[in-house]
Amino acid sequence: MLKDIIYSTIANKCPQCHQTNVFITNNAFDLKRFDKMNVTCDCCGLKYEKEPGYYQGAMYVSYALMVGWFVITWAADSFIIYSETWQYLTFVISTIILFMPLTFRISRLLWINFFVKYDKSKMTCDKQIA
Ligand SMILES: [Zn+2]
Repeated sequence: MLKDIIYSTIANKCPQCHQTNVFITNNAFDLKRFDKMNVTCDCCGLKYEKEPGYYQGAMYVSYALMVGWFVITWAADSFIIYSETWQYLTFVISTIILFMPLTFRISRLLWINFFVKYDKSKMTCDKQIA
């Protein structure tokens, strides 16, 4: 279900049980730890990195997100804002660099959600873990 994918991606939750965090920190702008992932889910046992290089495919998701951002900002600039080209390029490039940690995490969470579906029956822990 789409709402399960959106919830898991935005809330940084395990795609299979929605109980534990995939990334160690919830803060994408904690630059020392934003890319650190837990190895497995403590609740359902899902292994987050199924094989070496599993998240290379997330680069395609990241690319698609960046193209989407480029198209949206280009359309807004071309039809509403009418800024100079250098101003537009400065804005797009700086926002892409600024939001890189967020894009990195969203891409990986979307990628694992492509292959792992939410299944409440796989949940083995007794209570919800915050
Ligand atoms: Zn889980």
